[in-house]
Amino acid sequence: MNTIPKKNVDLIIPVYNEEEIIKHTHARICAVIDKLPYQFTLYYVNDGSNDRTSTLLNELNDSRINLIELSRNFGHQAALTAGIDASKAEIIISMDGDGQHPPEMLQEMIELVIQGYDIVQTQRIDKYQPSSLKKKTSSLFYKLINKMSNTKIVQGTADFRAMSRQAVDALKEMPEYHRFLRGMIAWTGFSTIILPYQPDERSGGVSKYSLRKMLSLATDAIFSFSLVPLYIGLSFGGLLLFLALAELTYVLSFWIRGETSTLAPGWSSLMFIILIVAGLQMILIGFIGVYIGYIFQEVKRRPVYLVKKD
Ligand code: UDP
Ligand code: MG
Repeated sequence: MNTIPKKNVDLIIPVYNEEEIIKHTHARICAVIDKLPYQFTLYYVNDGSNDRTSTLLNELNDSRINLIELSRNFGHQAALTAGIDASKAEIIISMDGDGQHPPEMLQEMIELVIQGYDIVQTQRIDKYQPSSLKKKTSSLFYKLINKMSNTKIVQGTADFRAMSRQAVDALKEMPEYHRFLRGMIAWTGFSTIILPYQPDERSGGVSKYSLRKMLSLATDAIFSFSLVPLYIGLSFGGLLLFLALAELTYVLSFWIRGETSTLAPGWSSLMFIILIVAGLQMILIGFIGVYIGYIFQEVKRRPVYLVKKD
């Protein structure tokens, strides 16, 4: 008899109003995990659905299911966090409950974590709707965030990833409220492998990521991973002071050439004062921005460092 205990694997699946497909999703996941030599726990996080998602999940009657019911709709990132906080296994995998993240990849993802990768991050290669608005805005977003932030976030990554306990514990040390998990996980810097995949079509229902939710995720990402917006005032102020200097040189050139009479009376002094005052104000706003940036980094309470274990 084989006495080696099976490795535990937790699956975290946030669901919001997925009554049309939840049973299908579960059946598809089971068809894969039933064949794998691991001990699975499925953490379905019901993110305040107002349809029959919760009832249907209870009807599944599968002892491997651990249902977490959020009191209202908190959003995908919060639902994932709830699942991550509840998870106990050595290998933790997050995936969507709409069938777009193929469970057939689970085996390879788990094996890579066992091999020693802390983060197995999947990367979407879009086969469908190549010119869709969602794809364009997503690509613009990744370009922007990578320009503005020191944390590099790979284009087309979704919240379909496997993590080691070490990576999850590090994530749990980041109690910030506005959560962009893709960025937070990249920030930890643990060993990562990117696994490209073709996303399937949604097996039913419609996307629960409304434009408002997408914008709110993008805002959370940019503002919690970049202080660039806070420092705009500083560079703008510098520019205005430079313009004041240019104006001063321009006016001086009239003095040197003895042509001051050609200057409109009052223009030079007025212009100079406007540029200097506006420039100084912008610079002072920039200084306040720097302090707010520091305060912001403090209140996020991210760890100052993370130590790598074997
Ligand atoms: N989801 C959630 N809370 C939300 C929005 C979405 O838990 O407020 C879940 C949803 O049920 C799905 C996953 O997050 O399992 C991804 O959402 P969706 O498929 O709608 O996003 P898309 O794939 O269109 O970006
Ligand atoms: Mg989806």
